[in-house]
Amino acid sequence: MTDADCLFCKIATGDIPANIVASDDQFVAFRDINPQAPTHVLVVPRRHLPSLNEAADEPALMGAMLAFAREIARREGLADRGYRVVLNTNAEAGQTVFHIHAHVLGGRAMLWPPG
Ligand code: AMP
Ligand code: ZN
Repeated sequence: MTDADCLFCKIATGDIPANIVASDDQFVAFRDINPQAPTHVLVVPRRHLPSLNEAADEPALMGAMLAFAREIARREGLADRGYRVVLNTNAEAGQTVFHIHAHVLGGRAMLWPPG
């Protein structure tokens, strides 16, 4: 369920502090330490999965993670103006923490295509 060496597992258990904005029995959401937009929140399942590649058998968990991200966006006042939900997966996408997480980004106009 958790990985002893994983930063986001430690945030989920409270062993490492974070600016937590919401949580339930399945997910923790906290502000990114290096925000890339006025709102930048990470939605993290309590269960350790390294990336979307390891979540193939978890459609319910991934659906619930998207629903949690949507609720964060709504609470942050982004639902109408717009926001982006990003799952960086492995090296070329820039994944640096190998515990699956959804970035909820908003509060400014986003570029497309992304960098
Ligand atoms: P990724 O590049 O998709 O793996 O995203 C990892 C994110 O975690 C980056 O945006 C980091 O700024 C963020 N991050 C790393 N350490 C922490 C921390 N202790 N608290 C909050 N966010 C963090
Ligand atoms: Zn973990």
